[in-house]
Amino acid sequence: MCGIVGYIGPKGAFDILIQGLKRLEYRGYDSAGVAMVDADGKINVHKSRGKVANLERVARAGDTSGSLGIAHTRWATHGEPNDINAHPHVSQSGEIALVHNGTIENYAVLKQALEKHGYTFKSETDTEVLVQLIDYVKHHNQCTLQEAVREALLQVDGAYAIAVVEKGDPDTLIVARKSSPLVIGVGEGETFIASDATPIIGYTDRVIYLKDNEMAIIKRGGDLSIRNVKSSTPTQIDIQQLKLSLAQLEKGGYDTFMLKEIFEQPSTLRDCLRGRITDDCSRVVLAGVEMHKDVFLKAKRITLVACGTSWHAALIGKRLIQDFCRIPVEVEYASEFRYGNPVLDSDDVVIAISQSGETADTLAAIELAKEKGAFVYGVCNVVGASIPRATDSGTYIHVGPEIGVASTKAFTGQVTVLTLLALAIGQLRGVTDKDTVRSVASALREIPDVIEETLKCDPEVKNISRIFTYAHNFLYLGRGYNYPTALEGALKLKEISYIHAEGYPAAEMKHGPIALIDQEMPSVIIAPSDYLYDKIISNVQQVKSRGGAVVAIVSKGNTAMNDIADYCIEIPAVPACLTPLVASIPLQLMAYYIAVNKGKDVDQPRNLAKSVTVE
Ligand code: GLU
Repeated sequence: MCGIVGYIGPKGAFDILIQGLKRLEYRGYDSAGVAMVDADGKINVHKSRGKVANLERVARAGDTSGSLGIAHTRWATHGEPNDINAHPHVSQSGEIALVHNGTIENYAVLKQALEKHGYTFKSETDTEVLVQLIDYVKHHNQCTLQEAVREALLQVDGAYAIAVVEKGDPDTLIVARKSSPLVIGVGEGETFIASDATPIIGYTDRVIYLKDNEMAIIKRGGDLSIRNVKSSTPTQIDIQQLKLSLAQLEKGGYDTFMLKEIFEQPSTLRDCLRGRITDDCSRVVLAGVEMHKDVFLKAKRITLVACGTSWHAALIGKRLIQDFCRIPVEVEYASEFRYGNPVLDSDDVVIAISQSGETADTLAAIELAKEKGAFVYGVCNVVGASIPRATDSGTYIHVGPEIGVASTKAFTGQVTVLTLLALAIGQLRGVTDKDTVRSVASALREIPDVIEETLKCDPEVKNISRIFTYAHNFLYLGRGYNYPTALEGALKLKEISYIHAEGYPAAEMKHGPIALIDQEMPSVIIAPSDYLYDKIISNVQQVKSRGGAVVAIVSKGNTAMNDIADYCIEIPAVPACLTPLVASIPLQLMAYYIAVNKGKDVDQPRNLAKSVTVE
C-alpha cells in the first residue's frame, strides 16, 4: 500500500514530488505529505489529511524550497488518517525525516524502549518509532545517518520501503527496502525514487529495482552506492530499461481510469495474446512452460494462490486446468495458505496470481511454497515487480498499467493467461488433443473482437443501472465457469458503490440466501447458453417466484429468458470456458454506472488501495 516518491537533483523537488504522488495516489490516498531539504539544510515539512490535491494547496501556502525531497501518500495501517499520522515523520531532535511503506511489527517493543530513553511520540503510527530509533542510534553511536539507518533496520521486524533525509545535508538521500517495493530512476545528474516506476516515467527510462534487504545511498550529482543491510557489503548495481510510456498513464479522454480500462480491454487482450498462439491455432506457446517442460510433465497437483479479484481469476483457472489438463487443482487465498501449514513437495506446482506483483500475502505464500520444494509460477502484470522476481517461472499478462483501484482489465488478462496456461500444459501432457487446442485457441484469439462487440451493451447497461442505483443489497448468481464471474461481479459493485452484494453458486442459493429475496433485493444472473443453461433457468424461476427482480446476462439469440427475467443483457456466444471473459464486461459496466450514479469516486474508492503490500 501507499506510495513513496523522492528526488535529488538540480530542480526544485516539490513539483516533481507532487506530480509523482498524484501518479501513485491509486496505492493509498487517506493522507499525504512532503519534506524538502533546502540549500541551507532546513527541512520543510507539509502534511495533510485527504488527497494529494489537499496537500498541494496546504504546502503551496508555505515554504516549498529545496532540491532534495521525499513524499508519501498513505494507506493507514497504524493510526487513523489525520494530519499527525501522515508521513513524513520527523524525529524528536528535528534532524531526521522519513517516509515509510509497510508495517513495523515489533513497533510496540521498540517504542517502550525508546520511551525509557526519553523519546515521546506525537503520532499513533509504527513509522514514527522507526524514525525515532534511527535518531537514537545516530546520537547514541555518534555515527553517520547511513550507519544509523542500517543499525536501526537490523532491529526492525516487518516490511518496509523507506526514504530518509537529514537536516543540514541537502546532498544525501537514503532509501532501503524489505518486502515493500522501491525503484530508483537514474537520470542525468538527478535521481528519483518511487514505490513503482510510474512517477519516474518522462524523466528517465533507466531504473534499478532495489532488492530485499538492500539500502542505497544517493548523492547529489547522481553518485549512488547500494549495500546489503545485514552484511553491509556493497552490491552490484543493475540498471534496467523501463518500457512504459506516459500515454499509458493518462485517461485518454475518459472521465475515469476505470472506464478507460474497461474500454481498452480489446486492445489489452490483444497485447496479452500476442505471440502466444501459433498462426494455425494448433499450439499455445508460453515460454515459461516451454522452459520447464519436465516440471509440468511430472506435476501431480497444481495450487493457485491469490487475493481479491486475482482469487476469482484463480477459481476460473481451476476449472480450466482441470478441464484441459486433468490434474487436481486447489485454489487458496494467499493469506490462508501461508498460515495453513500446506502439504507440498517437489511434485507440486504453485501458481501465484497478482496484478501488481507486490501483494504481501502472495509473496509470503511463494516463499513458503519454495521452502517446501514446490515449483512456483507467477502470473503478474507489473514487469520487474517482486513476484516475477521471486518465482521460478511465469507469464506476464501485459495489459499495461492498471490505475483504477477496482481491477477490470487485469482480471480479463489473468483469465486469458490462465486459459493459455491450461491449454499449454494440457497439450504438453497429451491430455488435450490438437482439435480441442485448435478450437479453443482460435476462439480465444477472437476474444478481443468479441469484447469489442460486447462493449456495445454500454448504453443499455447504463439505463438498467439507473433502475437499481438505490438498492441496498444485490445477489449475483452463476454456475460452473460463471460462479467465479458472479463473485467478481459482486466484488466490483461492493468496491466502488459500497452496496452490499453477494456472489453465490446459483444452485446453492436455495440453501440459505433465498431467504433474503424480496422486491427490494435484485439478482444478477449470469446465464450464457452453456451446458448448465436449463438448470440456471430453474434457479431464475426460484428468484422470480419470491418477487425478486432479475437482470440476466444471456447469449445473443437465446430468447428463452426474455419472459422470465426483468432485464436481459445479451453477450456474444462463445465456448463455455471463455464465457467469464465476456460476461464480466456488462458486470464491470453495471458496477461502474451504479457507483457513478451514486456520486462515488470510482478510481479511488474509500478504504481501498491498489497494491496491497501489507498483511
Ligand atoms: N504503517 C504505516 C502507517 O500506518 C505506513 C502505511 C503505508 O504503507 O501507507 O502510517
